[in-house]
Amino acid sequence: SESGKTYYRVVMIGEHGVGKSTLANIFAGLNTDCDVLGDTYERTLMVDGENATIILIDMWENKSGDDWIQDHCMQIGDAYLIVYSITDRASFEKASELRIQLRRARQTEDIPIILVGNKSDLVRCREVSVAEGRACAVVFDCKLIETSAAVQHNVKELFEGIVRQVRLRRDSK
Ligand code: GDP
Ligand code: MG
Repeated sequence: SESGKTYYRVVMIGEHGVGKSTLANIFAGLNTDCDVLGDTYERTLMVDGENATIILIDMWENKSGDDWIQDHCMQIGDAYLIVYSITDRASFEKASELRIQLRRARQTEDIPIILVGNKSDLVRCREVSVAEGRACAVVFDCKLIETSAAVQHNVKELFEGIVRQVRLRRDSK
């Protein structure tokens, strides 16, 4: 059953240095014929026997420093990855702020969001526990996944997860 579009604009937001671009590069590198358009990457994934094309947008930290680009990012996503680093508490607090900002920008919509605790390989530098991440995800009604872009742990699962989140909402309509 084909209802609606099969491509999803997934926007990455989060503090500087948490690993957004590294995750995006892994996403793009998984496939040889992906299109790289600046900070936008396109790839088709087979998830649960059905193709989904993700357009991944990594332009939160725009070089120009124009505020309108961040406002624009808050508007254009079909789904969001709010990324923090488990080694950086400030980035975790920023993630909460961004969730609130996003909710405000898209009040009437039930937007799929995954809270992403990246750098899980840096166990000795951990400043945010898994339990804290989970608690935050419960409060913000979204999924949590811890990833390591450095050792490519849970990165595939992250992108499959966001496709499933979008489909869950699509299928319940
Ligand atoms: P961005 O500012 O959010 O785009 O972050 P970057 O992708 O530029 O990453 C910032 C720094 O963190 C870079 O030096 C990356 O190599 C490093 N980094 C990103 N992800 C990981 C990770 O999962 N583990 C470790 N150890 N380092 C990471
Ligand atoms: Mg970056």
